[in-house]
Amino acid sequence: MFKKILIANRGEIALRIQRACREMGIKAVVVYSEADREAKYVKLADEAVCIGPAASAQSYLNMPAIISTAEVTDAEAIHPGYGFLSENADFAERVEKSGFVFIGPTPESIRIMGDKVAAKQAMIKSGVPCVPGSEGALADDPKEIIRNARTIGYPVIIKAAGGGGGRGMRVVHTEAALIHAVQTTRAEAGAAFGNPAVYMEKFLENPRHVEIQVLADSHRNAVWLGERDCSMQRRHQKIIEEAPAPGIARRVIERIGDRCAAACKKIGYRGAGTFEFLYENGEFFFIEMNTRVQVEHPVTELVTGIDIVQMQIRVAAGEKLPFTQRSVQMRGHALECRINAEHPYTFVPSPGRISMWHPPGGPGVRVDSHAYTNYMVPPNYDSMIGKIIVHGDTREQALARMRTALSETVVEGINTNIPLHRELMADSNFMAGGTSIHYLEGWLARRKQ
Ligand code: ADP
Repeated sequence: MFKKILIANRGEIALRIQRACREMGIKAVVVYSEADREAKYVKLADEAVCIGPAASAQSYLNMPAIISTAEVTDAEAIHPGYGFLSENADFAERVEKSGFVFIGPTPESIRIMGDKVAAKQAMIKSGVPCVPGSEGALADDPKEIIRNARTIGYPVIIKAAGGGGGRGMRVVHTEAALIHAVQTTRAEAGAAFGNPAVYMEKFLENPRHVEIQVLADSHRNAVWLGERDCSMQRRHQKIIEEAPAPGIARRVIERIGDRCAAACKKIGYRGAGTFEFLYENGEFFFIEMNTRVQVEHPVTELVTGIDIVQMQIRVAAGEKLPFTQRSVQMRGHALECRINAEHPYTFVPSPGRISMWHPPGGPGVRVDSHAYTNYMVPPNYDSMIGKIIVHGDTREQALARMRTALSETVVEGINTNIPLHRELMADSNFMAGGTSIHYLEGWLARRKQ
């Protein structure tokens, strides 16, 4: 096992990884930007090195600075967390070429999954069902694009092959709007992702977002750890996640989970990963794979009892998975609310000093956050300041625990989305379970009236 790991990330996930290291007796080095200098998790680390100014491009995305920090601190492996460099194949490659272990899949796997066209093709080959769409990237010929859309049937969605974070997508309802939409998405994709390739999919009108967590080692073992329902989204950004997905028969989930584990073996996948699907009318359609730990991993940890971050570290060190598919048991129900520093209804970011932070507690409550009283939320990064995760024997108990937890939580000095979560936890449709990816935006629009 490694003696020392460098954490190339910030905020709650940097703290989460640090906790995993500490439990395993591994020393943790954190890198930080000038904006995060005062953060407590930085002070808690065994070693902390400032790698640049607040701007991510010069700090958390600064590959030479991160790799040379690993060199000077004698770290053996680098954990990239999520976001930043976590899905950057060039970074993974440079880490390995410099003699460190990248805690994640191989650069090849990251590269394939980072190109959504290549990812879909790999999935089709591995027997994972995909959203019906164009075969590969769209050609330049308008006639062919029109033919494609007619075959798929309107509405269609034009998506950037290199897209991510909910950006680079456009829904098209009529043939008249098609070519212009393809051209605009192409131009945007070229500018935003450095890759103008776009593809076309059937736009599913009322799906749920259901994803499968997988873990694989480098000894050809792969397991899936159940599913998560992440349908509560705004602008394609998840805000509430849960496991299991309410109202879907176990055998339906098992069938898709087994396909995902089989696909991992087929593509030689290593580490933690997530197969994201849209689920509609009893069918699963693959949309993309994330080759890293996800924000919502704790709900899976609470229902399976498996520490996903520790497993990432173990398989990166070459260990075999310590369990088989048969021994993975799901127990009870877990929910996660992402706490963002933003206005609960206008979503305007609200960085600044937290004058009072009082997190909840009690049975089945977990808080993953780097915040505390007097913590300064910097304006430079994502607005998420933590996550409240609860576990109960049933979904009803988990909901009751989340309501209690949210009622106990006090955050003063900045705006947070806690009031929104409180309302959603009492919403009759959410309480019934199974709302679609469009539910939250509709709910917000109705609320305004
Ligand atoms: P990203 O990598 O940017 O997150 P995804 O491919 O995962 O992109 O899609 C993000 C979200 O966009 C999905 O969760 C869903 O809400 C919506 N979406 C993507 N593809 C489709 C589709 N074919 N039909 C309907 N909605 C879609």
